[in-house]
Amino acid sequence: MGAIDTELACIDPAALAAAVTRELDPLVGRIDRGLYPGDALRALGAQGAFRHHLATQRPDGRRDVAGAIDALAAIGRSCGSSAFMGWCQDACAWYVEQGASDTLRRELLPRLASGEVLGGTGMSNPMKYFASIERLALQGTRVPGGWRVSGRLPWVSNLGPDHVFGTAFMPLGPDGAPRTGAGVEVMALVRCDWPGVTMTEVPPFLAMDGTGTYGLAFDGVFVPDDHVLADPIGPWLKRIRNGFVLMQVGIGAGIVEGCVELMRESNLRLGHVNAFLEDGPDQIEDELGALHDRVAVLAEAVLDPADARFAEVLTARLMASELTLRATQSAMLHTGAGGYSLASPAQRRLREGYFVAIVTPAIKHLRKELDRLMRAGVR
Ligand SMILES: Cc1cc2nc3c(=O)[nH]c(=O)nc-3n(C[C@H](O)[C@H](O)[C@H](O)COP(=O)(O)OP(=O)(O)OC[C@H]3O[C@@H](n4cnc5c(N)ncnc54)[C@H](O)[C@@H]3O)c2cc1C
Repeated sequence: MGAIDTELACIDPAALAAAVTRELDPLVGRIDRGLYPGDALRALGAQGAFRHHLATQRPDGRRDVAGAIDALAAIGRSCGSSAFMGWCQDACAWYVEQGASDTLRRELLPRLASGEVLGGTGMSNPMKYFASIERLALQGTRVPGGWRVSGRLPWVSNLGPDHVFGTAFMPLGPDGAPRTGAGVEVMALVRCDWPGVTMTEVPPFLAMDGTGTYGLAFDGVFVPDDHVLADPIGPWLKRIRNGFVLMQVGIGAGIVEGCVELMRESNLRLGHVNAFLEDGPDQIEDELGALHDRVAVLAEAVLDPADARFAEVLTARLMASELTLRATQSAMLHTGAGGYSLASPAQRRLREGYFVAIVTPAIKHLRKELDRLMRAGVR
């Protein structure tokens, strides 16, 4: 695909919607049961789905985070698992574009933006560590030309043997003691095929089983200096965190749109009794519209490092989780026994919806962070 096609695809939601219908719709049931849709993700990437937020990868040089969110919603309207994998891809590319490595920006970023290389993000543990929820899982020792990293991450998605992912580790001094201070950790881009990286299958999930999710063991993995994205991580994290969190709204928005469709479809037959349910399609659609407008404003200031801005982003993300839970529950209640059938998308939406609420930052994590920021006087 030439540059002009990519430019058109980048700004044309109809082209993406057509690609979703062609590439994803036929696979949704199989993805739900465990098929990893690598080829479909690459095809969506070729349509420009994963380059909206990457100013350096667009012919117009614009950073359009709202466009990235809308693209994820278009994917999630069909398949929540694929929207999550799209977000993994977007986040991985976002780390590289905002990172310190010119080599990766030059050689890897265009291939991530086009979907040719697929990538993930092992940042749940670091994000929870920064929110004082758990300890940092990876540790690195300085060696000539890079770092030797060891530890385990329980779940990283959108992975395969030749994929990449971003993650963070604690640097240890020559005496084995961790660096001290806030934001002193190191962020790096890791390749799944590096010696010392072991990907292990995880037991089947309730949902999201086709997301290419693996447990990762690091056993003295050599991370060369040109794969370090930030050292120390502090200022970089403040730059990327709004985008990381905000783009997840697209996963929820797509699932909510899918639920609105299901409710409307069900109302054609059962509207006379569904009218007595809360959270009908018009109500949910109105709230999604309001959330969309709020997110579009925040997306314009995505690189703002201020805590006050981050609090607004966390609030929007929390609203997305809560709306997704309500919409998926309501879709089940609207569709009734039909929705309970394993062949129905309603029960799939319910399972996908819970994931929006538990993937980092989970609802409990969001409320903890907002509580901390409020106590610190952040407005
Ligand atoms: C399908 C799926 C895909 C995911 N993909 C990613 C990803 O791409 N990148 C990423 O960084 N994270 C990923 N996660 C993790 C996710 O973002 C959350 O961190 C996770 O769901 C737990 O969040 P929580 O806040 O509810 O923590 P809790 O469930 O409260 O757990 C707290 C901590 O306990 C430990 N723990 C709990 N259960 C287990 C277990 N079975 N095995 C090992 N440790 C455990 C972990 O350290 C966990 O973070 C994925 C999780 C799932 C279920």
